[in-house]
Amino acid sequence: MQDTIYTIPVTEVYEEPCECPLCALEARFENDRVNYYLGPSLMEPDNRIATNDKGFCGRHFNMMYATQTNRLGLGLILDTYMTEQIARMRKYAGEAPKDDGSGTKGLGKLFKAKSKGGQRSAEAICEYWHKHERGCCICEDLERTMERYIDVIFHLYFTQKDFRERFDGGLGYCMRHFELLCDKAGTMLSAGKQDEFLTALVRQQLDNLDRIQDEVNWFTKKFDYRNAQEPWKNSRDALPRGMRKMTGLRDIGS
Ligand SMILES: [Zn+2]
Ligand SMILES: [Zn+2]
Repeated sequence: MQDTIYTIPVTEVYEEPCECPLCALEARFENDRVNYYLGPSLMEPDNRIATNDKGFCGRHFNMMYATQTNRLGLGLILDTYMTEQIARMRKYAGEAPKDDGSGTKGLGKLFKAKSKGGQRSAEAICEYWHKHERGCCICEDLERTMERYIDVIFHLYFTQKDFRERFDGGLGYCMRHFELLCDKAGTMLSAGKQDEFLTALVRQQLDNLDRIQDEVNWFTKKFDYRNAQEPWKNSRDALPRGMRKMTGLRDIGS
């Protein structure tokens, strides 16, 4: 039996057709996590260790800032995260830890400063940062959770007729999530189910890309004076929908 904390959101996003149910699931989960990190997580020492260690990507820092609800909380997260990261960079550069004025300066002297010289220090810091910047507490939670959601989608697709009809009658996915679904079908489904699922998915995706392209096309035709009196049909917002569909960036045009 699938875990309801994953099944309920999946069932809900498939109730109404939308341009990408996985984008809808992602948005919902990201918002929950942003509020969690700005709220309950602040009091959890283990989570603070994780946020100091991994931090957040630009997108998720920006989402936390944009909530405007807990600037102090965000400040506390950023303060201890930066302190941790700067200490690591000093270490990679062969520099002694900063004297924080706490009277523990002698500790700094234990790690005798052995500066590596500018070029090697720069290389060591950049090599560290290159790996570090790919990490993000929310992105990592999100990746794990999306995998669980997709597992639920596969399960419901092959066990519930209603769900399968809603899935097959959907409006397709953004290309980023289409790729993710194909990738996970390749690793999570048996060969027979994979073929059955992917045949339906590819047809749905191509038909719906055609649909949006037609709407974009009609959008361009509306600029012809001969079409000025014609209705817009579904084309008014065809540009953001088309761009979102192709790139998977949910915020385009919003
Ligand atoms: Zn999507
Ligand atoms: Zn992130």
